Amino acid sequence: MLQQTQVKTVLSYFQRWMVRFPTVQSLALADQTAVLKQWEGLGYYARARNLHRTAQIITERYGGEFPQTFEHVLALPGIGRTTAGGILSSAFNQPWAILDGNVKRVLARLVALDRPPARAMDRLWALSEFLLDPVNPRDFNQALMDLGATLCTAKNPACLICPWRSPCAAYNLGTQSELPMRESKGPLPHKVIAVAVIGNDQAQV
Ligand code: SF4
Repeated sequence: MLQQTQVKTVLSYFQRWMVRFPTVQSLALADQTAVLKQWEGLGYYARARNLHRTAQIITERYGGEFPQTFEHVLALPGIGRTTAGGILSSAFNQPWAILDGNVKRVLARLVALDRPPARAMDRLWALSEFLLDPVNPRDFNQALMDLGATLCTAKNPACLICPWRSPCAAYNLGTQSELPMRESKGPLPHKVIAVAVIGNDQAQV
């Protein structure tokens, strides 16, 4: 539910969802229409279908227990690298890095990344892995996400109360408001067209 959606929006949906589908088995057995109905208004309905299918896979293939290896979690519908890392670190305290939108912004500022994050994904993943606390990965990832959501915000980051102010390259360079760099939009397309008006000798066109 939290993919692409803020906690405050998700909260009431999550509570109603847990009443309607209190166990992974109850979700797995539900009709897809009932699942989509419960999701109504939250948007990105592929997430509901993926969650439903995932519940069925967990029930059928894993005996109702959520898998705990990265490869198995990554293979579930709708789960990419950062969601897999987020689940494994948050639910099982396993040392997997994350790189969601907020984390990309924090890390891009931390090293004053000289290009848009989309062009430096390997570097950002390596940085997230390098920084990860292997002893407390759950707390570390949560803190990193919270930093991005509350202090290192897209506009007006609160650098003066940020715990990473001292090592932050963007803060030290005074470029935090300009980072992360955006993809430059290409020039507007320029097209040459010809228009002809044909008339007859009665001045009709
Ligand atoms: S010092 Fe500012 S720019 Fe750097 S990580 Fe903290 S909030 Fe973000």
